[in-house]
Amino acid sequence: MGSLATRLTLSFVTVGIIGAILVALLTGLRTRVEFSRFVGNRDLEALSDALSAYYLVKGDWEGVERFVQSDRRLHTWGNRVVVVDEQNNIAYGPGPRVGPAAYEADTLARGVAIEVNGERVGVALLEEERFAGNRPGLPLNGESAFLSGVTWAAIVSAGIAGLLALALGLWLTRTLTRPIHALTEAAQAMAGGQLGLQVDVPNDDELGRLAASFNQMSHDLAHASQVQKQMTADIAHDLRTPLSILRGYAEALQDQTLAGSPELYGIMVDEVMHLERLVNDLRTLSLAETGGLALNLRAVDPKALLERAGLKYVLAAEQQGIALRLEAADDLPSIMVDVDRMTQVLNNLVANALRHTTAGEIVLTAAQEGNEVVMAVRDTGAGIAPEDTPYIFERFYRVDKSRQRAGQSPASGLGLAIVKALVEAHKGSIQVTSTPQHGSTFTLRLPALATS
Ligand code: ADP
Repeated sequence: MGSLATRLTLSFVTVGIIGAILVALLTGLRTRVEFSRFVGNRDLEALSDALSAYYLVKGDWEGVERFVQSDRRLHTWGNRVVVVDEQNNIAYGPGPRVGPAAYEADTLARGVAIEVNGERVGVALLEEERFAGNRPGLPLNGESAFLSGVTWAAIVSAGIAGLLALALGLWLTRTLTRPIHALTEAAQAMAGGQLGLQVDVPNDDELGRLAASFNQMSHDLAHASQVQKQMTADIAHDLRTPLSILRGYAEALQDQTLAGSPELYGIMVDEVMHLERLVNDLRTLSLAETGGLALNLRAVDPKALLERAGLKYVLAAEQQGIALRLEAADDLPSIMVDVDRMTQVLNNLVANALRHTTAGEIVLTAAQEGNEVVMAVRDTGAGIAPEDTPYIFERFYRVDKSRQRAGQSPASGLGLAIVKALVEAHKGSIQVTSTPQHGSTFTLRLPALATS
């Protein structure tokens, strides 16, 4: 069954319908029986008239059976009628006629008197059941029998519906509480520091979705905690390498095992600059992520922004034998950006594209989509493996885990994290699509400035 709401509704509806059907069936059955008893009592009057006419002609009850049997209407009711004569003997009835005092006076009082010329000649009684042996049956008080019959039917159907509701309730409770227990236990374990726990997702109802969300949250928390630890280790590592190089040179200079030279000082300055860049990157990142970055926003033409980024790398691309192209319409709406920051973003994306592309082209595009301007940097480079794509915007995430790149500044793994934080600080978003060996496309979406 689909959703929990559907399951609950269907269960209640089932119990309701079965209860209603039971009440209808049992009370209906009972009503039919009781109704025929009522009709019987009514027809007893007609029967007593016919019997008194018979007595008037015959003068006694001799042969009354044949009379009743011969008349179809009398016969129908006659099967359940007892005629008692004035001496309280059974004159007509299913049992043999036996001695006096067959009925009590109050029983007789419930029957219909048969009178001839104002004189009472007998009593007609309606039997509840057929006689058992010669024991005369007792006529029931119709109204109370009807009521007790209907009450009985209602009690039985209520009982059956109640049992059914109990069974359904137990089943529902079991299916509801099992995943809730599992979730509670997992949440408690998580509160105790056990991150990354997963619970079973039994089906696709509300609880299933809750369990799936819990699993996602648990996985994300475990990942965030891992990233946090990794970041501390990465910062320590990235600071330690240039620091130990600087220390080595400084100590060698101090005990004069090395003589100072422009090359040596050059290396030391490079290391200090690397340290500076790392600290600046971390600062930019934390400012952008916490919303503390001061942005000098102004309306800018997206095409002009891309041209600026393209120009910076056109020479490098040419040297690598890669075509660097721009595809953008002239009439794009402006975007509100901090030019320096957005240039930093685009430079970073183009530099990455150049670094990972050995042949083909890099295309910078800009287009309008609804009330957004979409800018993209597309390359025909190495691409990114699907298992890496979800993480490349994370701090210190490097696809190539070896940190140094020959002839270039060391990869910090902060570039795309800063790009993402800066784009988001501009109320935009960034995504990547990539096919290994075919290339990657980084797509930026920024709100377009309404043209009035
Ligand atoms: P890094 O400083 O290591 O370049 P980034 O945050 O800029 O760090 O990039 C993260 C990772 O994403 C890089 O290690 C790189 O492997 C991968 N990457 C980024 N851009 C591209 C691209 N255009 N093509 C292929 N891989 C890329």
